[in-house]
Amino acid sequence: MATSIAGPQKLYLLQLSASTVPVPSGTLEMVLGCYLVETDDERRILIDTGLPPDAPPSPGAPPARDVKTVLEQLGELGLRPADVDMLICTHFDIDHVGYHDAFTNAELIVQRRHYELARSGHPRFAAARTHWDHPALRYRLVDGDTEILPGLTVLETSGHTLGHQSVLIRLPRTGPVLLAIDAVMIGRLFTTDRPAWPADDDADALRASTRKLLDLVEREKVGVVVFGHDGKQWPTLKRAPEYYD
Ligand SMILES: [Zn+2]
Repeated sequence: MATSIAGPQKLYLLQLSASTVPVPSGTLEMVLGCYLVETDDERRILIDTGLPPDAPPSPGAPPARDVKTVLEQLGELGLRPADVDMLICTHFDIDHVGYHDAFTNAELIVQRRHYELARSGHPRFAAARTHWDHPALRYRLVDGDTEILPGLTVLETSGHTLGHQSVLIRLPRTGPVLLAIDAVMIGRLFTTDRPAWPADDDADALRASTRKLLDLVEREKVGVVVFGHDGKQWPTLKRAPEYYD
């Protein structure tokens, strides 16, 4: 009997907003996004869910442009939350978990160390706790790099926060795509000697995780690396309704 391996077929980049953020050296173009993977056996895997509807405005920053929620983005692809089978949680910062509680049909995947840190009441993850710690959510805790299904692996990349995870997706035509998430927020930080930013918890761990991803890109010949919040890179990428296949 022939066996078929049901792996990723399509990757959608769902852009949720764009903003120009004041920084000491001037301004920085940032995006907020999340991701949808479809497999050839029609499973749908969402990665992160963006800011919650009740997020407080960030002080001193101008309002974001082109704001769309993950629910609107899925709706434009003809999908409802119940159509999502799995939700990969890269970490519980407020700009990544805002609609987790809408995905009660999905299995949520998070690094155990991150889940335990957040559940212990760490103040960093308190702001959006009602969204990621809803009693109806079903979590699967993983330890370190883990193949979730053939062609989709989560990679432990602590540093931005403990137990942060990035995602490697192997597509039939594009080949390996790395979603760096907040391990590498913008492209110019993808170097061995990169600086940490104020939102990063542990500069040494962050550099070690960045080196781990640089090595992976080299070893696996990753053709596309998507940086978590890079407002200069995202307009150059295929964004929904376009997709990588
Ligand atoms: Zn972020």
